[in-house]
Amino acid sequence: MKNRNFVNLNINPCKMCMPMGAAIAFRGIENSMMMLHGSQGCSAYMRNHLTTHYSEPIDIASSSLHEQATIYGGANNLKKGLKNLIQLYHPKIIGITTTCLAETIGEDLSRIVREFTAENDVSDIHIIMTNTPGYGGSLYEGYFKTLHDIVRNVVRPVPRHQKVNVIMAHTSPGDVRNIKGILDSFGIAYIMLPDISNTFDAPFSREFKRIPDGGTPYQDLALMAGARATVEIGVTVPANLSPGKYIEDQFGVPLYQCAIPIGVSNCDGLMRILSEVSQRPVPARFVEDRGRLIDGMIDLHKLSGEIKCLIYGEPDLVYSVTCLCRENGIEPAIISTGSQNSMFRKLIDDLLAGEAGRAVVLDDTDFETIEKHAVDRKVNLIIGNSTGKQLTEKYGIPPVRIGFPIQDRYGGQRLVYTGYTGSLKLLDDIANTILAKKFGMHRKVMRELYYQAAGGVG
Ligand code: SF4
Repeated sequence: MKNRNFVNLNINPCKMCMPMGAAIAFRGIENSMMMLHGSQGCSAYMRNHLTTHYSEPIDIASSSLHEQATIYGGANNLKKGLKNLIQLYHPKIIGITTTCLAETIGEDLSRIVREFTAENDVSDIHIIMTNTPGYGGSLYEGYFKTLHDIVRNVVRPVPRHQKVNVIMAHTSPGDVRNIKGILDSFGIAYIMLPDISNTFDAPFSREFKRIPDGGTPYQDLALMAGARATVEIGVTVPANLSPGKYIEDQFGVPLYQCAIPIGVSNCDGLMRILSEVSQRPVPARFVEDRGRLIDGMIDLHKLSGEIKCLIYGEPDLVYSVTCLCRENGIEPAIISTGSQNSMFRKLIDDLLAGEAGRAVVLDDTDFETIEKHAVDRKVNLIIGNSTGKQLTEKYGIPPVRIGFPIQDRYGGQRLVYTGYTGSLKLLDDIANTILAKKFGMHRKVMRELYYQAAGGVG
């Protein structure tokens, strides 16, 4: 914003911090537990957001750095924390991630973990470290950096096999289940990384489990180098954070990348890849689903042209939702993410190339900036997570909730907006949100017009 008297400062940033992404990625690995090397506030902040979005008990251990550890180093805290964690949770994998504080005081994580493994018999536990200073990026970078570190640590050469690696961008557990169903329909045996379909959205059970069932098994991770292909769902991932690129470069496993399958063209992209990888035609049910999506697009087309929206969230999700909007004549007036991501900018620029009155595109942004543009451009719909809800409270612009976190409604973990049927559901939700606003105000507007015409008495 031009009238700011400061630079490089965000007010109410449009993002979650980097270790949050690490927490989500580690939760998708079977029998794993995360240790946050930092202050208790960091893990409290993450547990709060994760618990309210997923409606599940979420544990994140903390090394609880206090004043003394901040000055003299937190090795003792971390070692003590790891011992407690092992005693209580009996994990097979421990993910240790850093925070702003640990990085700022220059903690040498590798040395501390080396000492810990020398001092304790933990030969049956895999410890994976990842550096995620909160200020080093957003949830998005933390998520992919952690996946990249997991792959770098675990994947080793193995004989070729028939499975396909599937790397998932951050979506809801409902969407992960949906993608797994699509893979099953193509008859593809896969290794999904990470698999949060159950670990963040487990069925009811009378037995309380400290670590929920599900997640990518460690032995599957170790097989990724022998897969016949990797399908990476996510196109804004920088090459240095892409697990699929790493596996391709190191082990020669061919990499296919596609956007999160939201919208016709993105769903078609996934179908093409799966058809090629499986050497099978697209199953008939998806041909029918595609037809229904097109039919729904025609049904809604008159309303779609009235919609001018603000989209914000993680880069991959924002990109795919923007594609869906453009396919339907919905104007994406502001396209924004809190992540600093040149790939996102390039993809959106290519998508909007040559368009008159084109959208405002923002990366590394905050809600103060977004709000200013939303008012200037007179948007009438918000598509994003709950963190922008003040725009609804302040200006009455109705939201369609998507992404993470969704804390002011239930069911964020069960949302399915991927695939042809999920895309149609998103389109219906967009249309119905606009209609609810329009007809919710219809009588009020008519009454005001009537009394105005009648001489201002009302
Ligand atoms: S931004 Fe830094 S201090 Fe804040 S929760 Fe994240 S890691 Fe902790």
